[in-house]
Amino acid sequence: MKILLLCLYLIVTAIKFLLDWLNLRHRQRPQPPLPQAFAGQIDAERMARSDAYALAGDKLGFVEDGVGVVLTLLFLFAGVFPWYDRLMSELAPGFIANGLLFFGVLLLVQLLVGIPFSLYRNFVLEEKFGFNKMSFKLWCADTLKSLLIGGILFGVLAGGALWLVSKAPQSWWLWVWGFWAGMSLFLMYLSPYLIEPLFFKFSPLAKENLEAGVRELLDKAGVKAGKVLQVDASRRSGHSNAYFTGIGKVKRVVLFDTLMEQLEDQELLAVLAHELGHWRCGHIRKRLIKGQIVALASCWLAFTLLNADWLPGLLGLEQLSFAGQVLLISWLAALLSFFWTPISSWFSRRDERQADQFAIDLVGSGQELASGLVKLARENLSSLFPHPLYVAIYYSHPDLVTRVEWLEKRKPSEPKP
Ligand SMILES: [Zn+2]
Repeated sequence: MKILLLCLYLIVTAIKFLLDWLNLRHRQRPQPPLPQAFAGQIDAERMARSDAYALAGDKLGFVEDGVGVVLTLLFLFAGVFPWYDRLMSELAPGFIANGLLFFGVLLLVQLLVGIPFSLYRNFVLEEKFGFNKMSFKLWCADTLKSLLIGGILFGVLAGGALWLVSKAPQSWWLWVWGFWAGMSLFLMYLSPYLIEPLFFKFSPLAKENLEAGVRELLDKAGVKAGKVLQVDASRRSGHSNAYFTGIGKVKRVVLFDTLMEQLEDQELLAVLAHELGHWRCGHIRKRLIKGQIVALASCWLAFTLLNADWLPGLLGLEQLSFAGQVLLISWLAALLSFFWTPISSWFSRRDERQADQFAIDLVGSGQELASGLVKLARENLSSLFPHPLYVAIYYSHPDLVTRVEWLEKRKPSEPKP
């Protein structure tokens, strides 16, 4: 069984690397001319810069993925796993303490391995292309804060779940799911007040008249939002975005200050109209519900698998601790989820189309959204010619050239009688 599992892992890994390589090669081929909306916005020099940016990102990605593959092979297939499992059981024999130590140490190792990559990404790669606005001090502060918040959340979520498992051995899957679902809802309410302000400063829109325009758009879309805010994303990065978050009464619109700098007001409103589209078309609600159904099914499946006694045998082992078996299940789920990626990407692209159509209906045409997206691609050095297969498998949005062509020729839909 161990050899079969190893083959499966190697096949999935090889497919992923092959896709990256195909995509990289595809970008270097001669490309067809860009649609009209790109004229005057993206010239040959910009194209060369985005290619260089994408290539640098790919190279870093290859190294990072390579390190991940080597560590996974060592841990799961070269005997480290059973040794680690025994060591943790000796250090912390109690059920809850064992689970916390087992996953806590692994998460810490993952974090430490990621630090050099994060430093390189921010201070070499992003710096070189003019995106990094972060000082080393701010990076340290961010990393420490994330570590602290992550540590507290891990303690509560994992500790609580382990306690529930020990208290209700026959029905814990339902309890654990309920606990996590409740916590995630609670965090969604709390995060805008408690967590986000630790990293960002939110303030009312600095641009005059823009708030009135945003309010008018919200009214037209039939969305009630408490606050319209801008966030000082420019302290960290030159990349830009807009988002719409919250549930119930804490809904709010957040615009990156970088976005407000890069776009004309009409384009910004069109981008916002797209975000409101996700809300009005029910994408956010549906995603939440789907997420919870998957979580419930996963808890039940994990419970069933943990009750069967063949899991350690998958790796040719006699036995594994509860935590060890949970790790094995999570790893398998992550591996198999690759085959689901193209399907979920397809659904996501369909939602994006719907939100684009909503924006067209709301602002009357797709021109503003198209020109806004082209400017964002210019400012963010987005890659314009990904491989179609890569798009089909990974892209949550239609690729930009296709999307802009679609927006330019698309008309508002007929009002329903
Ligand atoms: Zn969207």
